[in-house]
Amino acid sequence: MRIVVAGGGYAGLACLMELRRRMADAELILIDPGEDHLKITHLHETVRRPLRRFRRSYMELGKRIGFDHYRHALDCNKLADFAAESAIDIDGHRLSFDFLVIATGAKPPSLSKSAQVYDRDDLREQDAGDLVSLFLGDETRPRELSVVGGGPSGIQILFELADCIEASRQPIKLRLVDREAKLLGDYPSKLGDYVQDKLVSAGIEYLPQTEYVSSDEDTLQFRDVSTGENLVVQSGLTFLFPGVSPSPCALNSDRYGRVEGYESIFGAGDCARFDSRGDDQLTAQIAVRQGKLVAQNIDRVSRGVRLFEYYFKELGYVVSLGPLDAVGWLFLQDQIVSGLPAFAIKEVVEAQYDLFVAGLDTYII
Ligand SMILES: Cc1cc2nc3c(=O)[nH]c(=O)nc-3n(C[C@H](O)[C@H](O)[C@H](O)COP(=O)(O)OP(=O)(O)OC[C@H]3O[C@@H](n4cnc5c(N)ncnc54)[C@H](O)[C@@H]3O)c2cc1C
Repeated sequence: MRIVVAGGGYAGLACLMELRRRMADAELILIDPGEDHLKITHLHETVRRPLRRFRRSYMELGKRIGFDHYRHALDCNKLADFAAESAIDIDGHRLSFDFLVIATGAKPPSLSKSAQVYDRDDLREQDAGDLVSLFLGDETRPRELSVVGGGPSGIQILFELADCIEASRQPIKLRLVDREAKLLGDYPSKLGDYVQDKLVSAGIEYLPQTEYVSSDEDTLQFRDVSTGENLVVQSGLTFLFPGVSPSPCALNSDRYGRVEGYESIFGAGDCARFDSRGDDQLTAQIAVRQGKLVAQNIDRVSRGVRLFEYYFKELGYVVSLGPLDAVGWLFLQDQIVSGLPAFAIKEVVEAQYDLFVAGLDTYII
């Protein structure tokens, strides 16, 4: 039996590992345009740590777990053809499959941006710390640094930057720009309040209800979403984190993970929305659970037994605020944790994933 997994992020890797555990004889193939699995939940930490620390090569993982990796980007618009032929084309070669899993994640929107503006995909290739060092060393650039996006990723990188700027002792103005009226609006309100207090105490300018439009060399153009007025600010270095959406296409999975309309194609992680009772936000903990569930169900389909439904409920969510602070909820949405205890929880969650990638599965649910 041959199973092809497209996308080697959290969902895809979890799926491959669970498939190998359950189906020792299956031929497993990963297709991903990159060479490495990236622990992208650490991306903001590349302000102070090298990116390579968060990469694991697919070649090394493939040897250990038992899969082959082809560098290729799957074209999701051809799902009907793939299903009809039980095969995909990779650079002119035909690759047949019994099951196909799509776990291609989500991407930021492609906004117009100039040289000193970087988004999530730029940071997959470049250390944020190097970009900050270049900026700090170039006094011809405006002494202002901006982060666009008041969701968890934007906030996490903002406070890493704040810490780094403070250590540099240079008089750099920091700014957070967000389209929404309130920070972390999708989470319990105490989280946004905690972050807002921290912005004030760190002297960071906060522009809510302000939408990024474009950038020139040293300036950013914004629009006030309530009044429609335009705003121009100076910025010598800018990070864009305006959110992500499923990529290259959004899939609808049924409660077992099968992509609607196809028996042999499954979807998991940020690219797939599950029609089920389980939580379905775009997070790594959910991507891992969906990837594992899809693997379980492929094993069960191939043995002709009843499939498992996806019903995972998030155990908590913690946003880090620099190297030693964090805020989030644990087990219940009104159970808020902050400061060092929250930071410690975040570290434990990341360590659990590190163990998982290293081959030790400690996820009990
Ligand atoms: C800075 C940052 C911090 C975050 N912090 C947290 C956190 O603390 N906790 C949390 O739970 N979540 C966090 N998230 C969200 C979390 O990272 C995502 O929800 C998670 O990565 C989704 O996993 P995935 O496998 O669906 O996609 P990804 O991990 O994005 O992996 C997708 C993979 O698919 C590949 N791919 C893309 N297109 C194709 C194609 N056409 N064909 C084949 N392969 C393709 C990519 O190369 C990539 O390897 C954070 C995200 C960011 C950016």
